[in-house]
Amino acid sequence: MSTLRLEIVTPERKVYEKDVNMVVVKGVAGELGILPHHIPLVTPLKIAPVKAKIGNENEFIAVHGGFIEVRKDKVVILAEAAELEADIDVSRARLAKERAERRLAQKQSDINAMRAEMALQRAINRLETSSHK
Ligand code: ATP
Repeated sequence: MSTLRLEIVTPERKVYEKDVNMVVVKGVAGELGILPHHIPLVTPLKIAPVKAKIGNENEFIAVHGGFIEVRKDKVVILAEAAELEADIDVSRARLAKERAERRLAQKQSDINAMRAEMALQRAINRLETSSHK
């Protein structure tokens, strides 16, 4: 089975680098399944789990927005933050989710509501990604 190299990078570190058979991401325009030899593209991503298929196994990575760049045999995802399934602290994400929900329930400025909404999305993304364990 042919492979492509998947790299997931944040400003701090390289979170993931492996040869995989398929990558599934949630782009702003919808879900994208990328196989080797996909046409080149760059598109922004939603805050959502990324799935890497290796043989019959799937690996999940929580990717918090950013961009995907597809080249001939390489996919690079650049995001503000990303975590491997195994590195997600579930209780921290649960607390972050509760905090964000409390903030959203309060009357506050649009900018704070937007921040809380983004924090909520990150927390849900972490919980969703870790639930594949
Ligand atoms: P929190 O309020 O818990 O800090 P956050 O969404 O504000 O959550 P970020 O600003 O997205 O956190 O991330 C800060 C750093 O902490 C990043 O390196 C991110 O990968 C890491 N991180 C955040 N939450 C978790 C978690 N639940 N498990 C593992 N790493 C996390």
